Amino acid sequence: MKVIDLRSDTVTQPTPAMREAMYRAEVGDDVFGEDPTVNRMEEMSAERLGKEAALFVASGTMGNLVALLAHCGRGDEAIVGDRSHTFLFEQGGMAALGGITPRPLPNRPDGTLDLTDIERAIRADDDHFPRSRLICLENTHNYCNGTPLTAAYTAQVARLARAHGLRLHLDGARIFNAAAALQVEVRELVRDVDSVMFCLSKGLGAPVGSLLCADGDFIAQARRARKVVGGGMRQAGILAAAGIVALEQMTDRLVDDHRRARRLAEGLALLPGVQVAPLSSNILYFSLSAESSRTPEQVVEGLERRGIRLLGRENGRFRIVLHCWISDEDVERVLAALQQVL
Ligand SMILES: *Cc1c(COP(=O)(O)O)cnc(C)c1O
Repeated sequence: MKVIDLRSDTVTQPTPAMREAMYRAEVGDDVFGEDPTVNRMEEMSAERLGKEAALFVASGTMGNLVALLAHCGRGDEAIVGDRSHTFLFEQGGMAALGGITPRPLPNRPDGTLDLTDIERAIRADDDHFPRSRLICLENTHNYCNGTPLTAAYTAQVARLARAHGLRLHLDGARIFNAAAALQVEVRELVRDVDSVMFCLSKGLGAPVGSLLCADGDFIAQARRARKVVGGGMRQAGILAAAGIVALEQMTDRLVDDHRRARRLAEGLALLPGVQVAPLSSNILYFSLSAESSRTPEQVVEGLERRGIRLLGRENGRFRIVLHCWISDEDVERVLAALQQVL
C-alpha cells in the first residue's frame, strides 16, 4: 500500500527528470564562483523574480538568516509576525547568531500585519531603544492557513518601510504557491520588497535548497553572511541542477495541488464534528469540534493504520499539505479513510 504523506510539501522526492539533471550536472567550486550550474540557477531565479541577483543557500532557514544578517547589525530590531516561521520555527537565529532583536506583532488570520501596528512599533531615535531596521513578511503564510499576501498589501508595507528608512524582507518559502493562488506572476508579488527568499525543496519538489533574491550589493553581503554560517558549498551544482528543473517544470502545476486541497476541504466539511479552516493554497488546516467523539491522537493513529500521515498540531489542529506526489486517487483514499476514522 502506498503511504500518502500529507505532513508537509518537504517530503517530496526528486522527480526522475531532477535525478537525471543531477547526474549530468556540470559542476565546479561554488565558493570560487565557478559552479556553472549554480550560477545558472541563480541567474534564472533572479530573472524569474525580477531582481538583480540571487544566492543559492542550503535551506529556507539559512536564507532568512543570511538576509537578516545582511540587513541588520547587532542591536538592531526586526519587526516580524508573531505567527511567522522566522519568529516561531528558526530557533531565534536572528537573536542567537546576529544580535538582532525580533519585535513580534500579531499576525491577523490572513497572515498580514496591521499597518498601524507596524507604524507604532517603529522606534524613535533614542539612546534607550534598539534601532528599527527591517520589516519581515511571509507569503504564503504557513501558520495562517497558507494564505497568500497580495501585491497591493506588500506595496503598502513597503511604502511604510521606506517612509521610515526601514527595509522589507519577504519569507517567500511558498511564493510560487502564492502566485498560483492569486493567478499573478511571482515578480508582481515581490516587486516592492528589498529581499525575498523562496524554497525549491517544498512544493517545487527539489531535494535541497532555497534562493535569496535582491539587488547585487545586498547579495554580495549575503554571500559573506552565508560563508560565516558555514553555507559555502562546493560542487553545489548537483543540487542546483534539480532546482533548475523545479523552476522549469514544477511551478505551473501548483494549481493542481490547490485544486486537490479544495476537493479535500469540501469532502472534510461534510464530515460530522469537523471544522475546516479557510483554504486558499496547498495548506489545509482542520480541527475537531467539541462534539466529536474522537481525540486528535485517535485520528492520527487511525489514519496512520490506513497508510496516511498528517501533522497534528497544537489545540488539536491538524495540517494537511498537498504536493506533487499526491494524486486525485490519493485524495479520494484520504477522504474515505477520514470518513472511517471520524
Ligand atoms: C519551511 C519554511 C521555512 C524554512 O525552510 P527550511 O528549508 O525548512 O529551513 C521558512 N519559512 C517558511 C514560511 C517555511 O514554510
